[in-house]
Amino acid sequence: MKKILSLVLFIGISCLGNLFAQNQPPANALNPQQKSIVAIAALTARGDLPGLKIELNKGLDAGLSILKIKECIIHAYAYCGFPRSIRGFQAFMEVLDDRKSRGIADIMGVATSPVNQNGSKYERGKAILNELVNAPQGRPQPGYAVFAPVIDTFLKEHLFADLFERNALTYAERELVTVSVLSVIGGAEPMLRSHLSICLNVGLNSEQLIDFIQIIQVVLGKNEAEKAAFVLNEVLGKTAIVIQPEEEAAKAAFPKGEQVNSPYFTGTVWLQMLVGADTTFNINAGNVTFEPGARTHWHVHPGGQILLVTSGNGRYQEFGKPVMKIQKGDVIKCDPNVKHWHGAAPDSAMSHIAIGTNQNRGAVKWLEAVKEEEYRQ
Ligand code: MN
Repeated sequence: MKKILSLVLFIGISCLGNLFAQNQPPANALNPQQKSIVAIAALTARGDLPGLKIELNKGLDAGLSILKIKECIIHAYAYCGFPRSIRGFQAFMEVLDDRKSRGIADIMGVATSPVNQNGSKYERGKAILNELVNAPQGRPQPGYAVFAPVIDTFLKEHLFADLFERNALTYAERELVTVSVLSVIGGAEPMLRSHLSICLNVGLNSEQLIDFIQIIQVVLGKNEAEKAAFVLNEVLGKTAIVIQPEEEAAKAAFPKGEQVNSPYFTGTVWLQMLVGADTTFNINAGNVTFEPGARTHWHVHPGGQILLVTSGNGRYQEFGKPVMKIQKGDVIKCDPNVKHWHGAAPDSAMSHIAIGTNQNRGAVKWLEAVKEEEYRQ
């Protein structure tokens, strides 16, 4: 499982939540609708339409109105372009048709109010931007705006006037869409930094932004979450969130399979058969996982065996020879009819792919258990 440790800030917050109704999210966490906004924006920007449809259903189930979701997809286009947003709308229409056919009546929501057209659009946009960044008036123009004034005009008039003046979303909701899309497109860290700061200015708090990163990790993956977490830690001026490496199990190439129920093993052992014996290849192969301390009984393979150690540390012994320590990357060839055992180290699990060669020579012959003193030597 993907997992995040963050946590420094969460203590005390859940107590606050308990003052209100049960089942409410902690007061300082993103609520289910805000979480859905983040996920919908991210998947729209990525163009992951199957994933988007799932999140659209979740958002509608969480009570997001149709018009609010539409406005999220509209807002996203300013950061990821028309093609992704139009694909998002196509997916949304399919989801709504499907839900209607299943008899689900979704909330339409409140349409955006008419915009006050007084004054120049450029000045209106500039005023909204100043409100968002909480910056003093008359600061020097950024270099790009001097170099290419028309992009500055488009930005102020279109993004910060045309879009932000529509009240179908709050500023906070628009900023959640924005930081989500910026996390997807990558290479826009200065903008992500600015907009995470704006999030704090428009009423979101640091815990909610940590929540945002956790959703990004679930929806997009570890790489995007790590990059966004790096920027968020800069904005907050402290290490508020660390993305942990994926657990070893999550990186395993083959499934762990079923627990082995056999009298010929000591401790807990798991087996996933990978290749069944047949007359063409004349081998079988399985992924075997030994929990710490677990091992086989002594045994012989009439056709021999090859072990490919894929993780952890273990032990291997041929009768009359010392116990060998084995580890990830080791390849062991066990000759036909040589009495031996294999298993995990006392303090580490071990997985190997066991390949039974020359299967036509007959099945494994099981012998006595490996005694504790033999195992520990
Ligand atoms: Mn063996």
